Amino acid sequence: MKKYVDVILPLPLPKSFTYSLPDEGAEEVQIGCRVVVPFGRKKFYTAIVRNVHYCAPTAYEVKEISTVLDTSPILLPIQFRFWEWLANYYLCTQGDVYKAALPSGLKLESETMVEYNPDFEADAPLTDREQQILDLLAQEPEQCVTKLEKESGIKNILNVIKSLLDRGAIFVKEELRRTYKPKTEIRVRLTPSAANERRMRMLFDELGRAPKQLALLMKYVELSGVLGGDTPKEVSKKELLLRADASPSIFNGLVDKKVFEVYHYEIGRLMTQTNDVMSLHPLNEHQQQAYKEITESFRHKNVCLLHGVTSSGKTEVYIHLIEEMLRQGKQVLYLLPEIALTTQITERLKRVFGSRLGIYHSKFPDAERVEIWQKQLSETGYDIILGVRSSIFLPFRNLGLVIVDEEHENTYKQQDPAPRYHARNAATVLASMYGAKTLLGTATPSVETWHNATTGKYGFVQLKERYKEIQMPEIIPVDIKELHRKKRMVGPFSPLLIQYIREALDQKEQVILFQNRRGFAPMVECRTCGWVPKCKNCDVSLTYHKGINQLTCHYCGYTYQLPRSCPACEGVELVNRGFGTEKIEDDIKVLFPEASVARMDLDTTRTRSAYEKIIADFEQGKTNILIGTQMVSKGLDFDHVSVVGILNADTMMNYPDFRAYERAYQLMAQVSGRAGRKNKQGRVVLQTKSIDHEIIPQVINNNYEQMVNGQLAERQMFHYPPYYRLVYVYLKNRNETLLDAMAEAMAEKLRALFGNRVLGPDKPPVARVQTLFIKKIVLKIEYNAPMSRARELLLRVQREMIEDERFKSLIVYYDVDPM
Ligand code: ADP
Ligand code: ZN
Ligand code: ZN
Repeated sequence: MKKYVDVILPLPLPKSFTYSLPDEGAEEVQIGCRVVVPFGRKKFYTAIVRNVHYCAPTAYEVKEISTVLDTSPILLPIQFRFWEWLANYYLCTQGDVYKAALPSGLKLESETMVEYNPDFEADAPLTDREQQILDLLAQEPEQCVTKLEKESGIKNILNVIKSLLDRGAIFVKEELRRTYKPKTEIRVRLTPSAANERRMRMLFDELGRAPKQLALLMKYVELSGVLGGDTPKEVSKKELLLRADASPSIFNGLVDKKVFEVYHYEIGRLMTQTNDVMSLHPLNEHQQQAYKEITESFRHKNVCLLHGVTSSGKTEVYIHLIEEMLRQGKQVLYLLPEIALTTQITERLKRVFGSRLGIYHSKFPDAERVEIWQKQLSETGYDIILGVRSSIFLPFRNLGLVIVDEEHENTYKQQDPAPRYHARNAATVLASMYGAKTLLGTATPSVETWHNATTGKYGFVQLKERYKEIQMPEIIPVDIKELHRKKRMVGPFSPLLIQYIREALDQKEQVILFQNRRGFAPMVECRTCGWVPKCKNCDVSLTYHKGINQLTCHYCGYTYQLPRSCPACEGVELVNRGFGTEKIEDDIKVLFPEASVARMDLDTTRTRSAYEKIIADFEQGKTNILIGTQMVSKGLDFDHVSVVGILNADTMMNYPDFRAYERAYQLMAQVSGRAGRKNKQGRVVLQTKSIDHEIIPQVINNNYEQMVNGQLAERQMFHYPPYYRLVYVYLKNRNETLLDAMAEAMAEKLRALFGNRVLGPDKPPVARVQTLFIKKIVLKIEYNAPMSRARELLLRVQREMIEDERFKSLIVYYDVDPM
């Protein structure tokens, strides 16, 4: 009987697609295997088998799969369930989830290949760019478009390709490219004819006239033990040449004489070295108590909050919990909000767990991520995975515990593209599918988590003492509005902050300066007429970056030359407004020329090694002053920081979002926690223009509970989480008038179903991104209302909208539980 498979394609399709299997080899195809399938006109994709069955689809003509890529599944049954949950809850497709979940090396990519037509004769002169492409193809007759683009440097290469195709100069075809290549090593062995003792003896004689070749052969004999009688050991060419101090030409001489032959051997990229592991630090009395309460709460509840002040030793408690899990033969997933943090935690975990620990994050080379994925499928997967949000997609055979460190961090939420998931919330669902537990840890819980913990949905454990009773830092507010008025500010610094920095440097202590804007000036303005340069694609003002002397848009990344004069009034005085981390770095270098200064923000940490270097230099005291965005606030543990400066608290407080207050508190409390860790009380200078704001005393007195209770009261009153679930409906279109009509129509349909739970449509704070206009409709649904019903209604409205001829070009997407 003919067999069929339903597959998930890496495309935002509402349903799975059915293909037929070839009669031959059909029995090998299992659920969770990858297959290559044709889709659309001449396109191929790597799809994942969701189901194998005997029902031919009736609605469309079924195509046959092209290739089966796996003999065993690369996705475990629980992962399918997890994908389904994600797609349902976050209102996206399983194709979206698939794209986010798999490292790209596991997804073959379809590539346009260009092939030179040897029979081509030009009937009219070629353009320079056409000639350039043909010249490249003359060197290598078949190449992919991306490579041609890179080598030629031609921007709109597709136009050139198209005209060459029209002229008959080239052929074009679609081909699948295998992006993951196993890493191989060149190894050496004796040829079959050389591999016997008699021949070897003869060789030793013959090579008397070629002493270097003889020495190389002797070294091979020594390394491989080939004359010892046992099976010879594997010898890599690189190592052999290195050990014998021989050149490749000497080696090639022996290959020509048919003594050596080489072969490729597949080796992994993952580090397998086992370092000496150390035993755990014993927990102090408070930590022991917390440990006991956590394990106790896990008897009745799936999730537990560990609310511990900064430096209370939460990480030590995690380590003990992990140890216990491993003892029970279970796996642990340890989530961190940011790559910057993995370096320090990796060190601490490696010391205890050695090679049982695997690290997974997006700055890793893709091939390495593929190998980790494959390792986790095997029986010998890592017992602990430390990673950022995407590691929730890894296969686990026997997950027992998920730890979400710094659970309040908004980097756990993926903004764009879909799936717009929250890794903390998704992880608790994943854990429950495995029958595993989730521990959320932080010094400043999110309002939602606090609510869940205090109402008994989650277990709730507190650690109120810092380890070794290190004091909490002293926080000193400084009214910069007043200082500005009196002209006492030195650029962005108050006299008090400058004094403290100087004292710290004198005593060989370190300083962290926190400013939540990167770049040099968040805004440039014409002094004469007030003109502000804006992005042509997005509705935002541009940030000036001095290092590259350009204006950039932080939404779409587009860069612009700085104009010499104002295009509105031709005035030549363009002034910088506000200050970003880059400007602070500049100013601090002028004030403290003797200090060594580093900056940590998105611009200085594009690569993984850049992060590691900034952190290592600071840890080792090579840097005196570290300037950074929120990246410096997240759980980094430094020993010699005595002063922290918060340069401008107001930008955080005034952000137009219902979470601004909560987030401002968390950021200030977290960054203050970096001060004074080991031997003395640290000092924090909190500069603000709104000295009377109620958040200031809350931060100073470390009064988290007052902050959270105030927020909860407000959220209840104004129908926000955790009492109501938010769904943002985004509508996008290139045409603004059309978009307005669409948004109105959709809001009306939604109101008919959801009543006054619908707000808007409104313009979001950034109402245009990458040439698309945006409108937002907000849906507030009672927390206990069934989400499945809401989802059904939303999708029905969306279908109705798109069926309307006028609204065909509408783009709709959802953000569930927006951050
Ligand atoms: P948190 O995660 O709560 O911020 P950490 O676990 O990073 O706190 O602990 C802060 C510092 O105190 C770290 O340097 C850590 O090594 C040390 N520390 C905490 N608890 C212990 C312990 N029980 N034994 C030894 N050192 C500890
Ligand atoms: Zn002007
Ligand atoms: Zn832009």
